[in-house]
Amino acid sequence: MALYPKAFQSLIAHFSSLPSVGPKMAERVVLYLFKQDPGKLQDFAESFEALQELKSCKRCFHIAEGELCSICQDAKREQSIICLVEEPLDVIAIERTGAYHGLYHVLGGVIESGKNETNGHLRVSELLQRVSDEGTEEVVLATNPTTEGDLTALYIKKKLEPTGVKVTRIARGLATGGDIEYADELTLSSALTNRRQI
Ligand SMILES: [Zn+2]
Repeated sequence: MALYPKAFQSLIAHFSSLPSVGPKMAERVVLYLFKQDPGKLQDFAESFEALQELKSCKRCFHIAEGELCSICQDAKREQSIICLVEEPLDVIAIERTGAYHGLYHVLGGVIESGKNETNGHLRVSELLQRVSDEGTEEVVLATNPTTEGDLTALYIKKKLEPTGVKVTRIARGLATGGDIEYADELTLSSALTNRRQI
């Protein structure tokens, strides 16, 4: 006999599959939701539907409500500088510092260590195309200071060489192995300000 009705089991399975959520916590969350009033649950369900409407910005691959993200739509951003990051959460972390006013390019991951190629899953050719089309003057490599992040930064630097664009890497202020999305704002802001040409 199942311990919970089907609707419960299904939700528990969904929540358990989320990052950092174990089966026990999933149970607690679902029980909590069960006790909420229907209006609140309806709001919650509608937020999920709205999530499905979101896209990747066709220019920089950050999260977007339409074709372009709010950063790409903002004409006041410095158009000559692109900050390359691994994931949309890194864009959010850098935006929170308020220390950067250029554009972004979300790579979509990193090269796995031990490999020298991207297997085509990273948006490298899209970056090269942008640098040539948009007359970019500087690309800031802001991949995480991990083995994979460094390897990826080196790979991108080589790919960018023929374009002649200035390439910089964020400073080593961040703890090695640490993630940009978890860095405090001051550290991240100084890592950006003290970036060096490579
Ligand atoms: Zn964009």
